[in-house]
Amino acid sequence: MVRRLFIAGNWKMNTSSSRAVELAEQVAGALAYVDNIDLAVFPPFVYLSQVAEVLKGTALAVGAQDCFYEDNGAFTGEISTAMLKDVGCSYVIIGHSERRHVIGEADELINRKVLKAVGDGLKPILCVGELLEQRQADETDEVVSRQVKIGLEGLGKADVLNVTIAYEPVWAIGTGETATPEQAQQAHAMIRQLLGELYGGSVAQSVRIQYGGSVKPDNAAELLACPDIDGALVGGASLKVTDFAGIVAGGR
Ligand code: PEP
Repeated sequence: MVRRLFIAGNWKMNTSSSRAVELAEQVAGALAYVDNIDLAVFPPFVYLSQVAEVLKGTALAVGAQDCFYEDNGAFTGEISTAMLKDVGCSYVIIGHSERRHVIGEADELINRKVLKAVGDGLKPILCVGELLEQRQADETDEVVSRQVKIGLEGLGKADVLNVTIAYEPVWAIGTGETATPEQAQQAHAMIRQLLGELYGGSVAQSVRIQYGGSVKPDNAAELLACPDIDGALVGGASLKVTDFAGIVAGGR
């Protein structure tokens, strides 16, 4: 059974080799007291080994910000799931909105990555979320359901328990504009209901659904108090030790 609360820090294309190690050490130190929450940080690929090394034996796991769906071969620039495991990753973010909307990844590609990650024993965080214009056009449920359905296609009940869904409204990522607890709860409840239709009620209750989008120490507690919000995916605030630690403290 998964633990309900999972706080994950996505560092995106930030830090340097020395800053990544320093940040990892500081976050691990600040959160050394935590024993009832799953925590992970997601450094850039090139710093994964160093960060995994300094986090050995701490409460923090390490994950990658993306992966590819083939094992090896002529795929210039791509990183396989075996490579990620080799350097100490246990999680991988797949389908982040910046990969969908800046790089242009489609649901079918994201699904191939999810299947590969689960098949190879990594725990994917499948990101879904609507654009502002889609919310304004009342298309949130339709967009998010499609992303969840296609993203999970081909996964059985046992496999889906290894997936975390991250609901991240695109208009809230990096903007300082957070979804209200009501907006976030509504989307999470819709996702959980959909999981129930796809996999049955008990699986739906056990799959973690995280919220992401400008989570900060001062809004974490009210978001994480919502019944269907099981954790947070934190971008900007995960680069500041006191902010990330404050979010964890607020969510407990
Ligand atoms: C993210 O990168 O997934 C994210 C939620 O970023 P931020 O917390 O900065 O909005």
